Amino acid sequence: AAKADGRRTRRLFEPAMDAALQSRRALECDLRAAIAAEALEVYYQPLVATGDLAVTGCEALLRWRHPERGFVSPGAFIPVAEETGLIAPLGEWVLRQACREAAGWPGAVRVAVNLSPAQFRTPDLVGTVARALAESGLAPSRLELEITEQVMLEESIANVAVLHRLRALGVRIAIDDFGTGYASLSYLQAFPFDKIKIDRSFTAALGREATAGAIVQAVIGLGASLGITTLAEGVETKAQLAALRRSGCGEVQGFLFSRPVPAAEIRRLVAAAAMPWMAAA
Ligand code: C2E
Ligand code: MG
Ligand code: MG
Ligand code: MG
Repeated sequence: AAKADGRRTRRLFEPAMDAALQSRRALECDLRAAIAAEALEVYYQPLVATGDLAVTGCEALLRWRHPERGFVSPGAFIPVAEETGLIAPLGEWVLRQACREAAGWPGAVRVAVNLSPAQFRTPDLVGTVARALAESGLAPSRLELEITEQVMLEESIANVAVLHRLRALGVRIAIDDFGTGYASLSYLQAFPFDKIKIDRSFTAALGREATAGAIVQAVIGLGASLGITTLAEGVETKAQLAALRRSGCGEVQGFLFSRPVPAAEIRRLVAAAAMPWMAAA
C-alpha cells in the first residue's frame, strides 16, 4: 500500500513541478528580454533622519512592468535572476543607473543599492563598483551598499575581504533586513558595517508585541556602542515613528514618508525644502 501511495503521490506531484519549472523558465525568458530592451526601471525610496525628517539618502529598488503580467515584484524575479546568473548584469545596471541618478541630487544625499549574494561570486565586484563611481562622478561616500546576512554566511573569508576593499573605496556598507537571517552577533564584529537596517517585521510588531520593542531597543543600543547608524525599515504609522524616536533610532524608511517612486519624482522630493509629508509626521 505504501508503494502504491508513493507512486500516486509522485504522479500528482510531477505535473505540478513541471508547471512550476515552466513558469520559471518563462519568467527567465521574459526577464532576459526585459534586460535587453531596458524595460526595467529603478525606483527610489527616501531614507529619513528621525530627528528633523531630512532625507539622508534614497534606496534604489528595481521595478519591472511586464506587458502582459503587469507589475512583477522583485521578490519574484530577483531569485530567478540569482539562479540564472542574470543578477550580475542586472545588478551592475542598477548600480550604474543609481550612481548616475544620485550624482544629480543635492550633495549630502546618499544612494543605497542592494547587492545580491550572487554578485559577490562575480569576478570583479570591486572593479564594477569603482567603475560606476568613476563614470558617474558620484563621491564614494554617497554610495551605500546594502547586503544581507546571507553574504556573511557564504564564503565569509572571501567576502569579508571584498567588503574591506569596497570600504577602502570610500563606500558605506549597510546590513539589510537585520534580525531575519541566521548571522550571529559575532558577524557585526568581523564585518565592517556602517549601518544596520532593522527588518520591517520588527517595526510592524512595535506597539503590538512587547518583545519587538525590546529587540529594536537592543539593536539600537548595540549599534550605538559600535558606532553604527541604525535605521528601521517599514515605518507606516506615526506611532511607530514616535516609538523609534524614543528608542533613539537614527533613521527611518517606510510608506509613512514615501513609497518607492520613479527617478523624476525623487528628484523633486530630494530638492524640495519642505517635504509634503513633513506636516503629517
Ligand atoms: P529590501 O532591500 O529590504 O527593500 C525594502 C522593501 O520594503 C522594498 O520592497 C520596499 O518597497 C518595501 N517597503 C518600504 N517601506 C515599506 C513599508 O512601509 N511597508 C511595507 N510593507 N513595505 C515597505 P520591494 O521594492 O518589493 O523589494 C523587495 C526586495 O527585493 C528588497 O528588499 C531587496 O531585497 C530586493 N531588491 C529590490 N531591488 C533590488 C536590486 O536592485 N537588487 C537586488 N539584489 N535586490 C533588490
Ligand atoms: Mg535593501
Ligand atoms: Mg531591507
Ligand atoms: Mg526588508
